[in-house]
Amino acid sequence: MMFNEDFDGRGDPTMFEPYWKKMGDKGTMVISGSQWMSYVSDFTNICFFMEPEFEGAVRRLHRTVGNAVVDGRHIVVGTGSTQLYQAALYALTSPGGAEPISVVSAAPYYSSYPDETDYLRSGLYRWAGDAYAFDKKGHGDYIEVVNTPNNPDGTNRKAVVKHRPDDQVQGKLIHDLAYYWPQYTAITAPLDEDIMYFTFSKSTGHAGSRIGWAIVKDKEIAKKMAKFVELSTLGVSKVSQHRAAKLMEVICDGYQNCKAKNCELFFEHCQNLMAQRWERLREVVERSEIFSLPKYPKEYCLFSGEFNEPHPAFAWLKCKEDIDLEKFIRGCIKVQGRTGRKFGSDQKYLRLSMLSKDEVFDQFLERLSTIKAISNGY
Ligand code: PMP
Repeated sequence: MMFNEDFDGRGDPTMFEPYWKKMGDKGTMVISGSQWMSYVSDFTNICFFMEPEFEGAVRRLHRTVGNAVVDGRHIVVGTGSTQLYQAALYALTSPGGAEPISVVSAAPYYSSYPDETDYLRSGLYRWAGDAYAFDKKGHGDYIEVVNTPNNPDGTNRKAVVKHRPDDQVQGKLIHDLAYYWPQYTAITAPLDEDIMYFTFSKSTGHAGSRIGWAIVKDKEIAKKMAKFVELSTLGVSKVSQHRAAKLMEVICDGYQNCKAKNCELFFEHCQNLMAQRWERLREVVERSEIFSLPKYPKEYCLFSGEFNEPHPAFAWLKCKEDIDLEKFIRGCIKVQGRTGRKFGSDQKYLRLSMLSKDEVFDQFLERLSTIKAISNGY
C-alpha cells in the first residue's frame, strides 16, 4: 500500500480534528435556508463581500495571539490564502510595464509559488526563482515573498534582496505568515509588514473552508486586492466566513474565559501535540544515522511567556548521501514526500508533513524506523 495522500507532502492539517471533536457543540453552527444569500456584506467596506463578524473575529484572534498588528490596518478576505497571494501580485503590479515584474523567494521556497505565479502567463509578473540568486544579479524591479516560518524548512525569515538605490531596484514585499502561530513557532513580535496574509487552513486546521485573510497597510493596495477577489470569484463564501468567525471566537473565548479553569486551550493543546510528534521524529532520525533534521533555536514567545522551540508543520529531512531521497523513501517504505527539487533545493532533501492524522503519523514513524542503511540501487 502506498501511503498516503497526507504524505504526498500536501500538509493537510487533519491532526487538529480531534481537538474540534472534543469541543463538541461549541463549534457547531446551524444555518437556515434564508441566511447569507446575498453577494454583498457591506458596501461601505473596501472589501464589500467581507462579513463584519468575520473581520471582527480576525482582529480579535490577532489581538489574542499578538502575532500581527491589526489596528489601523485593512483586512481583505480571500478564498484561501492561495487567492490572496495572487491578489497581492496583482495589486503590486500595474499594466503597461515593459517587462513582467520578477517574483522571487529565498530557496528553499514553498513549492506552489512558481506554479501559482506562472500558470496564467501573466504579463504583469513572472516567477524569477531564488531570491539569493536574484540579489547577485542585482537588477530589475521585483516582488519578494517572505514566508516565515518557512515552508518547507521551518526557518524564521526576513527579506533577503537588499534595496539598492544605485541599481534602481524597487523591491516590494509580500509576507506569507501561514505558520506564524504558537503551535508552530515562538511569537516573538506582532508583525507589521505592508502586506501580510494568514490562512484558516493552518491556524485552526480548517483547510476545507478555504478561508484566508490579508492585513494590509495601504488602502489602495487593499482595494486592488479586493478587486482581484471580486474579479476572480465575486467574493468569498459567506458560509465559510461565518464558520471561520465562529471557530475563531471559540478559541478566543477560551482565552478570555477559562485560562484559570484548566480548559484545553487551542494553541497550548496543539503546541503539545506538535512537540510530541517532533520529539518522536527526532528520536527515529537520530537512530537512523543516515538522515538529519534542522535544529531550531529556542526563542522567547510573547504569547506563552516561555522560551519555546519551533515545531514546524513540515519535516525537512536531509539524507547524508547525495541520493534522490523522494525516490528512495517511496521505494523503501512506500511513503510519498515531496522532493527538495520542487522547493528550489536539492534531491537529498525531502519534505514530509507533520500535520497528518495520528494513525498516519504513527505508521510513518514505524516505517521510517525500519530504514537502517542506503542500499545499492535503491
Ligand atoms: N502559503 C503556504 C506557505 C502554505 O504552506 C500554504 C498551504 N500549504 C498556503 C500558503 C495556502 O494555504 P490556503 O490556500 O489553504 O490558505
